[in-house]
Amino acid sequence: MMFDDLPTLDRDALFSQLASGGSGVMPQLVVLCASARLAQHLHERYAAWQAQHGCTVWPTPDVLTPEAFLRRLAERVRPCRVLAGQVLLPVLSAAESELLWQRVVAETRHEAPLLREAEAARLAAEAWQLCHDYRLPLPLPASSPDVERFNAWSGAYRQHCVRLQRIDAAEERAQLIEQVERGELPVPADIVLAGFDDPLPWLYRLFEALRAAGVHLRRLNPPAHAAQIQAVVAPTADQELRAAAQWVAERARTDPQARLGVIVPDLDARRADVLRIFDETLCPALAALPARHGERPYNLTLGAQLADIGLVHTALALLRLCVEGLDWAQASMLLCAPYWGASEDEHLRRADIDRRLREQGHLHVDLPLLQQLTLHDEALQARWQQLCARCRAHGKADPGDWAERFSVWLEVAGWPGARPLDSAEYQAVQAWRELLRTLGTFGGIVGAISASEAYVQLEHLARQRVFQPQTPPVNIHVLGALEARGLDFDALWVVGLDDERWPAQGRPHPFIPFELQRRVRMPRASAAVALHWAERVTQGWRCCAREVVFSWPAMDEDRALAPSPLIHAEAAQATARSVDIFAPAWRAAARCGREVHLPDAYAPPPDKARVIPGGTRLLGDQARCPFRAFATHRLGVRALEEPGYGPKPIDRGVVVHRALETLWRDLRDQATLLALVPSELDARIGAAVDEALEHLARQAPQRLPPMLHRLEAERLRALLKQWMKIERERPMFTVEQLEGAAAETPSPDPDPDPPSVSFAGLRLRIRPDRIDRLKDGSRLVIDYKTGARRPPPWHDGRPEEPQLLLYALLESGVTALAYARIAAGAVEFEGLAADHGIAPGISRYSDCRDTRDAGSWDALLGRWRGELENLADEIRRGHASVTPKHPRQSCRDCHLHAACRIRERFGIAVGEDEDAP
Ligand code: SF4
Repeated sequence: MMFDDLPTLDRDALFSQLASGGSGVMPQLVVLCASARLAQHLHERYAAWQAQHGCTVWPTPDVLTPEAFLRRLAERVRPCRVLAGQVLLPVLSAAESELLWQRVVAETRHEAPLLREAEAARLAAEAWQLCHDYRLPLPLPASSPDVERFNAWSGAYRQHCVRLQRIDAAEERAQLIEQVERGELPVPADIVLAGFDDPLPWLYRLFEALRAAGVHLRRLNPPAHAAQIQAVVAPTADQELRAAAQWVAERARTDPQARLGVIVPDLDARRADVLRIFDETLCPALAALPARHGERPYNLTLGAQLADIGLVHTALALLRLCVEGLDWAQASMLLCAPYWGASEDEHLRRADIDRRLREQGHLHVDLPLLQQLTLHDEALQARWQQLCARCRAHGKADPGDWAERFSVWLEVAGWPGARPLDSAEYQAVQAWRELLRTLGTFGGIVGAISASEAYVQLEHLARQRVFQPQTPPVNIHVLGALEARGLDFDALWVVGLDDERWPAQGRPHPFIPFELQRRVRMPRASAAVALHWAERVTQGWRCCAREVVFSWPAMDEDRALAPSPLIHAEAAQATARSVDIFAPAWRAAARCGREVHLPDAYAPPPDKARVIPGGTRLLGDQARCPFRAFATHRLGVRALEEPGYGPKPIDRGVVVHRALETLWRDLRDQATLLALVPSELDARIGAAVDEALEHLARQAPQRLPPMLHRLEAERLRALLKQWMKIERERPMFTVEQLEGAAAETPSPDPDPDPPSVSFAGLRLRIRPDRIDRLKDGSRLVIDYKTGARRPPPWHDGRPEEPQLLLYALLESGVTALAYARIAAGAVEFEGLAADHGIAPGISRYSDCRDTRDAGSWDALLGRWRGELENLADEIRRGHASVTPKHPRQSCRDCHLHAACRIRERFGIAVGEDEDAP
């Protein structure tokens, strides 16, 4: 049979014939379409045709794909065959077939270990399908080790099918065609073929069998518009897509009934970009929604992976939590997800659990841990308990049992949540249930499996399943290269026709001999075959609309691109398209009126009677940046912790502070220290360090596992020993005050609130680390430092480290201030005093370059008072402008970039400020 010689008819004639007869149980006129999309398209066009002819109801015409047609023929004869006692083997679903291929590949693991078994199984399944499509007999000529391996796998696959008493879909299709050839299946009198430009060999055989069975075969003429074709070159691929979207929007505005198409040949790779740009251009209200749910005015043929749909992503995370636990980042996402729980706002309560598990530093999160963290929330606690009880004692079970148990676990967790589902979410839930049903069918292939194996299978299914929610019919379609076959539009734009992407490069299949692929003309077998195939497709685009635009990007990053040679004639007349790179919503906002500036440098002044949290850090942050002080201390904005391995710098600081406090509460003065023999001192240091580390281990056990606990204890003992040597060598002193309480207080509350003090109209709670009484009765204020060295605040104007200065002003008789640096490589005092001789590292103010101009210690105190009162005055007035003292440097350790927009304001790229000196 010469396919091209078949009689043809056009669409109107086809619709007239469909209207005049042929539907019901065995319609005599059937239309076979090259794709399900074309079948859908013909149904829609037929409905429009009927409506044009004044009909309101009509029988559904028989328009379907060849695969659906064959299955239907088989279903018709099934009852008779069952009655006749024939054994009808059930057909493997696509998922079962894939699983079987995975198993077959895994079984040969010992012969040749593969890095990517799943990919090998996918390629083997693809080669199997190609062999059936092109009617290549198996085993294939063994031209390479890869082909030999595929031959072995396909033999094993067949044996498994026999053992399972199942049949593969491709083999069933071949058997059904044989039955048509033998006249064992009832066939219609008349079949019209639509969209088959160059039928695959299996289709050719089917059409031949139908013709031999007496079917009158005809071809539907493809759309043949005498199109106006123009070519457009855009600066970049992104702008090319935007130009196409704007062109569609404009056409749809002028003619809402027009059928518009946009073809993106590599749509699967560019799906996210297409979705973003078309949403921004055609439905900006939807683009602004975080979940982007809702009906779109356009149809994108390629769906997303079901596993990436928020609701299903949450279900998978919940199951994973039950089966093996989650890492902290996954757990954080799950806790804040809105798709589970007993009430709509439960995720807000769960966000607090997220905060706590981050603060405690848990790297791995499981159900018992969540139970512990939820002690204050009875409802949530009860749910975790119930889940724990259900998930205990996993063992092995049939995948069908796992599917049921997974459903129950999700129900207990309150999935899919308490809020009403929209249409897309409802369809996602249905797709998920279908997935569980599919998992339930795997028992025959894999037998009893563990919960984690069942979870892995389910997750794989969700990754493979493409989810495309049904939407009402629309007139704008975005399609891949092949999907436009047989369709017609009023106007069509084809993007991406540059010389690198169109025609696509040849990429022969590794499991089929290359020579064989070339001989049967598989589309990617060679550059020549790919070119021929692309020529046919391009020619089809030229005829499927009255107006056609071909476009390509001029540049790909820094590489210049030329138009595809397949549009050579059109490209010679190309026009450069200027593109509005701003989304219409932004343009509309910009058109709304004049720019209005709202100065917001001042927040409401703080309540004078109330203590502002933050202590001396409030003044320090005000010095660094007024907005930082306002957001941190008045709004209470804090960055969430990110759990990591080992103690954080702040933990190390807290441990040193606590150990020294314990030590000095015990010793009280230097005389007692000097009286200790070395072994006694070592023992006291050891006890203080142990107590401080145990306190940290209780607070954040995950950050101090036993090995690190031991190492940290050794490190701290050595450091404190060095420090006590310095304390021994100082002139005589008594420790008078520790962390805000008198040194003689026997057992301090671990976190007592220090009393509030008033400074320049602000109420603050401050807590000096330590105050020593010196031999002459004056006082030395000490601040322990365990982090990186920073410039001292002696002459700063806006002191970022104001604590020592403030203590000097608020405490009486202070004649010296010092940082006690206790860090690896730096164990020393650094300070300033009214006179010499306090301790090594504490200089007389008149010897210090920054302070020698003060004239006297009292004058220096007066200068510091002025500086701190200025900062306090700003806070009292609510000054909260975004004015970092040193842009970049001040912002480096600040977590408020997203709130203050400093990067946008100063044009700092993300990460750039982190490298600032
Ligand atoms: S990031 Fe910089 S500008 Fe923004 S609040 Fe922090 S310190 Fe101020």
